[in-house]
Amino acid sequence: MSLDLVFLGPPGAGKGTQAKTCAERHGLSHVSTGDLFRQNLKEETPVGLMARGFMDKGLLVPDEVACQMVRECLEGEGDTEGFILDGFPRTIAQAETLDGDLSRMQRPLTAVVSFEIADGMLTERLTGRLTCRDCSTPFHVAFNPPEQEGVCDACAGELCTRDDDTEQAVGARLSEYRDKSAPLLDFYETRGLLCGVDAAQPVDGVSAALERALEDR
Ligand code: ADP
Ligand code: ADP
Ligand code: ZN
Repeated sequence: MSLDLVFLGPPGAGKGTQAKTCAERHGLSHVSTGDLFRQNLKEETPVGLMARGFMDKGLLVPDEVACQMVRECLEGEGDTEGFILDGFPRTIAQAETLDGDLSRMQRPLTAVVSFEIADGMLTERLTGRLTCRDCSTPFHVAFNPPEQEGVCDACAGELCTRDDDTEQAVGARLSEYRDKSAPLLDFYETRGLLCGVDAAQPVDGVSAALERALEDR
């Protein structure tokens, strides 16, 4: 049986940080729609160019675009033990499309992990975030600093601040989350898939809680 997971939570909750290590530990593919959009933007593909305006403002990219991108990713998936969807789905419509795609593939979700954290902690996490230009690993100036300033521990790539980690775009992203993504908690709870993880503790504590939650499944 494959381990097919969705990581759900507000921007800055630590989904990307945990997805990187969890995917490595369990041999899963890590599908981050944010990273995919940023990659498309860097390569100036049609998807990247259309997504840019939304991302810069902290708004969600239209559902069809996100769904199509994830569909291609899942269909092209190689030989892995499963997947982590990080930052997808973000709306009920995306969740319903994903449901349809996964039933066609006869691959139901194993669990949806909810990263639980108070809003008040998110701005500081996001405005202090440093992201690797090459492998997207997130660091934090104070909470999770790289060994060498400005350099990625994982690949020695250059660390930079994302264009949408400004206080203004962060405000818009939090409000998009509350309006459009938070209803997914009920959606997955109703389906018996939701498991909560306390995301307010240090990185290692969250990793341990995540492992316990997955073992319980
Ligand atoms: P964070 O993890 O900090 O919340 P992401 O890297 O996941 O941010 O996403 C960055 C931006 O990419 C979002 O603000 C949005 O514009 C776009 N995006 C990412 N995933 C989706 C999605 N599933 N649906 C629509 N837009 C998305
Ligand atoms: P998300 O993908 O949910 O938007 P990230 O994994 O990118 O979140 O983390 C957001 C920021 O918070 C990054 O700067 C990261 O280094 C930092 N961070 C992640 N997990 C923790 C944690 N448990 N405690 C403190 N800071 C964290
Ligand atoms: Zn890197």
